[in-house]
Amino acid sequence: MEKKLRRSRQRERILELLHYTDQHPTAGWLYDRLKQEFPNLSLGTVYRNLGILVEQGTVRKLESGSTFDRFEINRGDHVHVVCRTCGRIEDLEMVQTAELQRAAHEQTGMTIVGQRIELFGICDRCEAEQPRDQRVLS
Ligand SMILES: [Zn+2]
Ligand SMILES: [Zn+2]
Repeated sequence: MEKKLRRSRQRERILELLHYTDQHPTAGWLYDRLKQEFPNLSLGTVYRNLGILVEQGTVRKLESGSTFDRFEINRGDHVHVVCRTCGRIEDLEMVQTAELQRAAHEQTGMTIVGQRIELFGICDRCEAEQPRDQRVLS
């Protein structure tokens, strides 16, 4: 029973961290922040908790094609802007994609059930570190 309580406490803290960050963190990032609080915590436990939260629909997993999956609170459909250099992800607010979904349906006949839209760029931090002519453009 106590074990069960501790597990749900960990899940609560994962949710809290996800609420308070706009970093779209990896499981490792969450683990680093929680391991002091929960000495028995393992990265596997973090993944397992995230899996449960994703299943519940509270959390969304971003399969961005990079090495590490990232996670965020499920805020509904929105567009991501991804830094090509460091992988930082920003949410784009207030972008209506209904028109795009309608066009997709009209042109392909598919019923649209979800979306994943990403724009790629170079963030201000990376740009400051990189000479202009060395930017990754493709
Ligand atoms: Zn960057
Ligand atoms: Zn997001």
